[in-house]
Amino acid sequence: MTFAVTAAETPLLELVGLTKRYSGPPEVDVLKGVSIQISGGEMVAIAGPSGSGKSTLLNILGLLDEPTHGLLKIKGRSAIGLSERDRVRLRATEIGFIFQSFHLVPYLDTVQNVMLPLVHQGRRGDRRARAVGALQRVGLGHRLEARPTTLSGGEQQRVAIARALVHDPPLILCDEPTGNLDAANTSAVLDLLRNLVAADRAVVIVTHEAEVEARADRVIRVMDGHAV
Ligand code: ADP
Ligand code: MG
Repeated sequence: MTFAVTAAETPLLELVGLTKRYSGPPEVDVLKGVSIQISGGEMVAIAGPSGSGKSTLLNILGLLDEPTHGLLKIKGRSAIGLSERDRVRLRATEIGFIFQSFHLVPYLDTVQNVMLPLVHQGRRGDRRARAVGALQRVGLGHRLEARPTTLSGGEQQRVAIARALVHDPPLILCDEPTGNLDAANTSAVLDLLRNLVAADRAVVIVTHEAEVEARADRVIRVMDGHAV
């Protein structure tokens, strides 16, 4: 018998015994020991009632916040205790973030918004072409010069999806991405997110909507500080 060890066996994301305490007052233990693995090729929903700690968990996964205790590994490398500079760099290469309220920059047009992750990476040269390609991929190749405020909610979220994929990160993290959208746009956004899943890429969606859960490959439920 032979045992082949391939890169695919290392989870994209691994959490062990992760805790988060907000020091308050009042002091709150939001996460009390969360252990999860997420692999490439998965679309995972993180579900749970409001206030259960879903956003806290996603922000830790996305290196926007630090856990109180526990291990967090991205592609097998520890992402805890990094210098601010290394954390920013890791986030710029490994993570794309999508928010409920889009978080587009109002005074930039769609191409400039989508180029931002490439600017943060310090990438030169093909930035504009890549941003245009990402916008075409979400069906917005005809709105390259539009300001976000002139777009519908569904269109704005598609710009945000283009911005999350333009630098080709292995992890796409979404916090209630369909929370401000009607049923038709929710479905379109979920189709786009599903299309981003690849062997070397996972999409993680925080949600409390049944439709989003139904479309995920796996649902992680956050309850009383634990994930089940
Ligand atoms: P969810 O996204 O599931 O609604 P959150 O992760 O936003 O939940 O919040 C979980 C709990 O942590 C809530 O009780 C919230 O009030 C509390 N919380 C969130 N952020 C902070 C903070 N910065 N300081 C103190 N408490 C916080
Ligand atoms: Mg939340």
